[in-house]
Amino acid sequence: MSKLCSVVGPSGYEDDVRGIVVDELKPYADSLWIDSLGNVIALKKGRGEGKLMLAGHMDEIGLMISYIDDKGFLRFNPIGGWSERILPGQRVLIKTSTGKLIRGVIGSKPPHIMKPEEAQKVIPMKELFIDIGATSRDEAKKLGVEVGDVAVIDRDVVRIGNGDIVTGRAFDDRIGVAVMIEAFKALENTNVDIYAVATVQEEVGLKGARVAAYSIEPHVALALDVTIANDIPGVPENEWVTRIGKGPAIKIMDGRSGSGLIAHPAVRKLLIEVAKEENIPYQLEVLPGGTTDASIIQLNKEGVPAGTVSIPTRYIHSPIELLSLEDALNATKLVIGFAKKITRTWIEANLRRMIK
Ligand code: ZN
Repeated sequence: MSKLCSVVGPSGYEDDVRGIVVDELKPYADSLWIDSLGNVIALKKGRGEGKLMLAGHMDEIGLMISYIDDKGFLRFNPIGGWSERILPGQRVLIKTSTGKLIRGVIGSKPPHIMKPEEAQKVIPMKELFIDIGATSRDEAKKLGVEVGDVAVIDRDVVRIGNGDIVTGRAFDDRIGVAVMIEAFKALENTNVDIYAVATVQEEVGLKGARVAAYSIEPHVALALDVTIANDIPGVPENEWVTRIGKGPAIKIMDGRSGSGLIAHPAVRKLLIEVAKEENIPYQLEVLPGGTTDASIIQLNKEGVPAGTVSIPTRYIHSPIELLSLEDALNATKLVIGFAKKITRTWIEANLRRMIK
């Protein structure tokens, strides 16, 4: 997981993550390929009773350099859903077109020279800038920075608390990718073929999952992603979506007013059964905003029964995402248990039913 989080991979620029994923999956796959959008698809053959697709997204939210001014400061546009409040004061890693990493900082005026009302307000992203220590546009370019380069916040993974808790950036969704890799490694002799898909461009519209589902034509699918754990001060308990350390979450619904995924009832039911049978702690998740690859996979062709296993994570889309490794281990167990239970009979009961 630390390895997966150590590389820079905003949407559309997942190359370094892809390299690690390929190395991890290749020894365990019957075949493995990369499609034209950059999704990694690994297949482990089962007994031919159907196809299960597992999806975890490789991309993370990031920044794209949009302008270099004559003093050497960089302006940027967001890639994915950022909160502007967390950007000022961060150190960033810029990845150039040649793959070189360059450090910079997102600067802002010091409080001493701000008017009190100015100090209160959130600085809009278009007023923010990256300082890479260059004094001119030429110097910035000499360092290798160009318009179209991408950046992420520079932050390592560290363990805190009792050692089960980790914090860092890009847990969304490198933890889902890690869970998928571990499940894929462990699965043997399943009834169905297992397709582990490390998707691209989830944060910018579920793009990779859409084309991967189209080519695989799965009979059932699970997305593996983080979900909001808001068990923190200032949020009343009745609004908590999930809590960390209480087990993986089985998705019931997500997206604003259900516009994302309403988990297929048979998928949801089977996940709950597996958790109960194998004594895996779990939580039920009703998420009022945000969604995962499962919402696009379910719409493939004439429909795919789909669900999501989520890893409860605090402070999502910030450089200090925080989760419990125990939850991730239990998520892996749940995915393995689920995959083993899918049979031709289960698939036939949940796909097209002829009435006449
Ligand atoms: Zn995600």
